[in-house]
Amino acid sequence: VSGLGKVYKLRKGNFGSEDFHAVADASFTVNRGETLALVGESGSGKSTIAKMVLQLEQPSSGSVKIAGKETAGLTGRALFDLRRTLQPVFQDPYGSLDPLHNIGNTIMEPLKIHGVGDAASRKARMLELLDQVALPRELASRYPNELSGGQRQRVAVARGLALKPDILVLDEAVSALDVLVQAQILDLLAELQRDLGLTYLFITHDLAVVRLIADRVCVMQQGRIVEQASTDEVFERPQQEYTKNLLAAIP
Ligand code: ATP
Ligand code: MG
Repeated sequence: VSGLGKVYKLRKGNFGSEDFHAVADASFTVNRGETLALVGESGSGKSTIAKMVLQLEQPSSGSVKIAGKETAGLTGRALFDLRRTLQPVFQDPYGSLDPLHNIGNTIMEPLKIHGVGDAASRKARMLELLDQVALPRELASRYPNELSGGQRQRVAVARGLALKPDILVLDEAVSALDVLVQAQILDLLAELQRDLGLTYLFITHDLAVVRLIADRVCVMQQGRIVEQASTDEVFERPQQEYTKNLLAAIP
């Protein structure tokens, strides 16, 4: 990601509009197999960056390269193929799981959208994914409201893995969970990363979580990256006053 910026047009009165700079001049690199955390307070632009990386929002400036390839202006087949290698895992309670789809269908959905395999092979893959995230296979016929929060988050991870992506963009993927369940999901993510060679862009407002999972950290404030370093460095020698305050807020 280099020099990335996003300006949202906000309506003003009946006719006018006003520019709002949600992200300005953000540059960072996530190396293959690594976890980069984006942290910062609410509204600092983390999810906006996630959406631009995921090709769900167009950058107003700068560029996103995936595996060395420029992503701007990709359409049709090329964009479709790129989406396969890059999957989102959002926070479940914000409706990332459809309450009307059972767990099995939820996990198979990306396979259907991308036309992978026939019904039988999709089902086999779905059962394999349940194993991979350590959920019992019986859960396939249940509905999201019949699962615990931690189980639902595992389902979201399984769905994110369905297309065998290289990169996961995890936006507040453990934030709604209690500390113990958080630790379990983070362990699962670390294990999957080791086994599958995944690269994570890990978004959170919680620095305690960052310490458990990230190799490097970008600290965001009001749309800008104000500090960027290895996790150890950020914890041991924070440079910015803002980062020090974030650290002080960890219980
Ligand atoms: P949180 O920790 O609360 O999820 P965030 O760091 O993810 O916050 P963003 O969702 O990226 O923050 O939002 C950054 C800023 O951009 C916020 O001020 C938000 O109100 C604004 N914003 C986000 N999406 C839009 C949109 N579609 N139109 C206009 N403004 C938006
Ligand atoms: Mg957000």
